[in-house]
Amino acid sequence: MNRGSGDGPGNGYGDGARGSEGSEGREVGGGREGREGREGGGGEVGGGREGRGGVNLPALRGHNEALLLDLLRGAGPTGLGRAELATRTGLTPQAVSKITARLGAEGLLAEAGRAASTGGKPRTLLRLAPQARHAVGVHLDRDELRAVRVDLAGTVLAATGGPLDFAAGPAEAVEAVVRVVARVADPAGPPLLGVGVAAPGPLDHRTGVMGRVTGFPGWEGFPLREVLRGRLGLPVLLDKDTNAGAAGAGAGVGPGAAGAVTGRGGFQAGLPGAGASGAAPRTSVYLHVGTGLGAGLRLGGRVYRGTRSAAGEFGHQVLLLDGPPCRCGARGCAEVLCLAAVARGDLPEAARILGEGAANLVALLDVDDVLLGGRVVAAAPEAFVSGVRAVLTARALTPDPPTVSLTPRGVAEGAAELALSPFFDHT
Ligand SMILES: [Zn+2]
Repeated sequence: MNRGSGDGPGNGYGDGARGSEGSEGREVGGGREGREGREGGGGEVGGGREGRGGVNLPALRGHNEALLLDLLRGAGPTGLGRAELATRTGLTPQAVSKITARLGAEGLLAEAGRAASTGGKPRTLLRLAPQARHAVGVHLDRDELRAVRVDLAGTVLAATGGPLDFAAGPAEAVEAVVRVVARVADPAGPPLLGVGVAAPGPLDHRTGVMGRVTGFPGWEGFPLREVLRGRLGLPVLLDKDTNAGAAGAGAGVGPGAAGAVTGRGGFQAGLPGAGASGAAPRTSVYLHVGTGLGAGLRLGGRVYRGTRSAAGEFGHQVLLLDGPPCRCGARGCAEVLCLAAVARGDLPEAARILGEGAANLVALLDVDDVLLGGRVVAAAPEAFVSGVRAVLTARALTPDPPTVSLTPRGVAEGAAELALSPFFDHT
C-alpha cells in the first residue's frame, strides 16, 4: 500500500479522482463525470480482447456495468484495480474507466485504497458500495413467513417473520407478504431493487404463476408475482424455495471471502471468456428438508431451473421399488422414506436416505459442494451433515467426494439474492 502519494488523473474516477487522493473508502458523489464519459458512444468498443464475457458494444452498456459490479462484489472490501477489471472482463481500459466513472457517479462504487503496481504509480482500488441499494427476500413457507432486507453484498440488515397459513389461500398470503415487506423496509434508506419471493413448487419462474402445490389446490394458477408487483410497486421475482436456497447457498460468501469471484462467474456460460478469472465455477446442490424434500441445483455457478421450472424434484426419486406410497402418486420416493424416518425419530436413517439420494445426484452431475438446509436439518445439523457425508464417501466414484456442509444462508436470504441478481446480471 502506498496511499496518498502522487496520483494522476487516470488513477481514480476520471477527472474527479484528483480531489479524493488518499481518501480510503470514500464514497464517490454524484455528478463526477469521468473524462472518458465525454468520448463518443463507441468508446467501449474494444480491440477484440477476450475476457470473462465483457461485450464491447454500446448497446450492451448495462450488461458491462453489471459485469463490473459483479466482479467488484466478489472482490469484497479489498476491491480491484481498473486494469484487473479490464483483464477479467475483456473490456478496454478506456471502457472500464467510463463505466466506473458512471457507476461512481451513481454512488455504487467507492475507493478501497491503493495498491502498489509493478514499476509504476500506485493503482487505485475500487470496491462496491454495498449500502447504495437494498433488496428484500421473502420465504413463503407452508406454515410460516420470513422476510429479510439485505444490502448489495447480501448482508442482512433487517429480518422479521411469523406464522402463515398457506392453506388459507393466496389472498391472505398476499396481505401477509405486503405486511412483512413493509416491516423490513426502510423508507429513509436507499432504493429497493426489488423483492424476491420463494414459495413451494411447482410454480413457473418465468410467468410468476403458481402451480398445483400438493395439498393446497387453492393456489393453482394464481399469478403471485404480478399481484405482488401491483401491491408493492416494486419488481418482484418468484422462484421455488429450493432455488432460492441454492441461490443463497452459492452466494454465501461474505464480503471479501476468497473464491467469491470464481464461484459467481457461471452466468457467462457459453461465452468464450467464461472462467477467465481463473478457476471454473463450481457446481453445487442445495438439499432442503422441511415439510418436503427438494433440491436446488447450481450448475457451473448458475441456478438451473429447467424449461418448466420443474428441475430439482429431488424428493421424488424412487429409492425403494414398491415402497410406501408418496404424495406424488409414486411409491418409495426419497421424500416419503426420509420424512417417515424423521417422524419416528430415527435421524441417522433419515440422514442415510438423504445421503443415498444425494449420492445419485452427485454421480449424475459431478457435484463439487452439497449444502444442507431446511428446518429438519437445522434441528439436528450434525446428524445430517455427518450422515450424508458418510454415504457420499462410501459411494464416491471419484477420488475426491464433494464437500458437505450446512448452507450458510436461509431461503429468505436466497430470495433476496434472487432480487439482487439482475443488478449483477445473474439469472
Ligand atoms: Zn414422491
